[in-house]
Amino acid sequence: MAFPRPRSVFERLPAYRAGKPAYSDAYKLSSNENPFPPLPSVLERASTELGRMNRYPDAGMAALYRSLSARLGVEEDQLAGGTGSVGVLFTLLAAFCEAGDEVVYPWRSFEAYPIAVDLAGATGVPIALRDDASHDLDAMADAITEATRVVLVCSPNNPTGPVVTRDELDAFLARVPSDVLVVIDEAYAEFVRHPAAVRGLDALAGRDNLVVLRTFSKAYGLAGLRIGFLVGPPAIASVVRTATAPFAVTDIAIAAAVASLEAVDELEQRLEAIVAEREDVMTALRADGWDVPDTHANFVWLPLGADSLDFAAHCAPVSVRAFDGEGVRVTIGDPEINAEFLTAAARWRAAR
Ligand code: PMP
Repeated sequence: MAFPRPRSVFERLPAYRAGKPAYSDAYKLSSNENPFPPLPSVLERASTELGRMNRYPDAGMAALYRSLSARLGVEEDQLAGGTGSVGVLFTLLAAFCEAGDEVVYPWRSFEAYPIAVDLAGATGVPIALRDDASHDLDAMADAITEATRVVLVCSPNNPTGPVVTRDELDAFLARVPSDVLVVIDEAYAEFVRHPAAVRGLDALAGRDNLVVLRTFSKAYGLAGLRIGFLVGPPAIASVVRTATAPFAVTDIAIAAAVASLEAVDELEQRLEAIVAEREDVMTALRADGWDVPDTHANFVWLPLGADSLDFAAHCAPVSVRAFDGEGVRVTIGDPEINAEFLTAAARWRAAR
């Protein structure tokens, strides 16, 4: 019997695996979420928009672009919003790739990369991280061919934590042909305190083939509302705006994002608390003998290899994210839950 068939890529496309729910939200350290509840001012503005849910949102996202432009010091036409930065990434790759094109990306990195690449009809070229879990940008540059259309760079890298430095990026960009699009995924940029780390927005100046992806999901704590954006050359932002499904981003999400940008001082205090916890967790793990790569995001990476699934099960009721055969990523959450995780990690080591 004949039946409608999706493109053949679906025969091998892996499903996106999200972090497992925990028995309570506070115990969920598996999705790099922000442990703080919404700020009252943000909740209030979003609630006002909830009362208008019979209306379509502003497809032009004018309030978002105005607010981001003022906050980031970029022009409005350099921006393109979407349903989370992952939504923007899917749209971007679909807009820039054709069958046969190659996309070079680091691996292990964000698990949506191979899915977005395959879905765009392109061929993924994953490049192994270095031993310290950072990008091997030399190998990534070596992997660029005539067929390469896009290179993905993730700083800090999810799930391992290291950043790309400014010098590393400059040396890399000098080797990238001008018709290859470089995407710096900065989903965790606000947690970075490393002085030499690349700052995507600074790197944009004078470059026509570079874009930065940012999100309100992590530092701003709006993961459930699905809102992220791209900053880049107007010609690229314009293509992404055209390729985005109409009305993809709700006015509820936009109102929350704009209110968050106005509440940046309060959010900054929360960020400092998360960063301080991250440093404490990393120090405690290292003191216990764990081999933890430097992390500049809101998570730590334990390279547990074949023990990853067992370790994740051992951490229950704390829910952490295991990558089978590779390692375990643990989000920085509430201090009491981080402490519970550290106790579980210490117990694991003591038993070995
Ligand atoms: N990029 C990276 C590196 C991420 O880790 C994530 C979220 N896990 C995203 C992008 C997507 O975030 P969102 O779609 O919520 O903006």
